[in-house]
Amino acid sequence: MTQTPDHILLLAGTYEARQIARDLSAEFPELRMTASFAGVVRDLPNLGVPSRIGGFGGISGLVDYLQREKVHMIIDATHPFAAQMSRNAVAAAAGLKLPLIRLERAPWRAGEGDTWEHVASMKDAVQTLPRNSRAFLAVGRKEIQLFAERTDIYGLARMIEPPSASLPDGWDLVLARPANDVEREIALLIDHRITHIVTKNSGGKSSYAKIEAARRLQLPVIMVDRPDLPTADTVSDVPELLVRVDDLLGTKRLKTSCETD
Ligand code: NAP
Repeated sequence: MTQTPDHILLLAGTYEARQIARDLSAEFPELRMTASFAGVVRDLPNLGVPSRIGGFGGISGLVDYLQREKVHMIIDATHPFAAQMSRNAVAAAAGLKLPLIRLERAPWRAGEGDTWEHVASMKDAVQTLPRNSRAFLAVGRKEIQLFAERTDIYGLARMIEPPSASLPDGWDLVLARPANDVEREIALLIDHRITHIVTKNSGGKSSYAKIEAARRLQLPVIMVDRPDLPTADTVSDVPELLVRVDDLLGTKRLKTSCETD
């Protein structure tokens, strides 16, 4: 009798999700894996595993999907600010008693020479910018409109997909992924005479260059702290995740990072 392979739903949207798809497929070739994307960004990466695109339809839609597709485990590798998806995943997994592992990369921490003002939300970030400031807005297309109300500031917005409404006169828009070159970030900030930086505390290396650039130029950063999420089985990197999956599958193939030969 042939056994049905375990099916893992990988909630994607981060660079770690690419790594997970690659490493899990290599370590556990017998697994079936489906990567799921919200479909917000057009040029989606090929994760090398079957994928689906678009929302599930809230918690009930996700529950239906998990049952229909006979999913055994959920891996939440969405962005730390994709709170709705993470909350829905916890609720659906709890309802069906499915294991869920969340990969949550460590947040950035202020270091020597950093001037950070922590705020709890984008709305608070909008209010915190002083009059006449020239702000580099490293925010998403849905969030930029909140800042557009501030007619007393200048904004340089950088995002991957264009915003749905045009930006205020005199503002600039850069359609690009975050740069990982500190010198280029410094040049961008100097060219636009930026006085403040607004960013989410995404953590990770891929968008850290602007934080380093702000430190070098001694610019204040308005740091939007992460949203609260329901408690979940959480790991902070891909190797730790692989060991946890191994544990849950009961295959005991991998060693924990604490075990040495
Ligand atoms: P969100 O507010 O948590 O999600 C909104 C809705 O989008 C969810 O309720 C879900 O719709 C759908 N969705 C989100 N992620 C999905 C996924 N991986 N697969 C299927 N449906 C998904 O998230 P968001 O901030 O819009 O982010 C969307 C995606 O972009 C996420 O995958 C995230 O990792 C990525 N991303 C987000 C940010 C950010 O700053 N928010 C930054 C970089 C990348 P239903 O309720 O209909 O299921």
